[in-house]
Amino acid sequence: MKQSPSPESHCSNCQLWLPKKDSKDCGNCQIFKGPVYAQGYCTYWAPQMI
Ligand code: SF4
Repeated sequence: MKQSPSPESHCSNCQLWLPKKDSKDCGNCQIFKGPVYAQGYCTYWAPQMI
């Protein structure tokens, strides 16, 4: 999903998010192959443990 339905839950604050050094808008996910949008979202979203 390109745009998260919830402002608090999106890929860039998901525990499974893997940021890319060369891009702010796209990164990778531990459970999907290929780039994902930082503002995207999926049903596997989980809060980051800080
Ligand atoms: S699990 Fe879903 S919400 Fe989390 S980074 Fe991957 S695609 Fe984004």
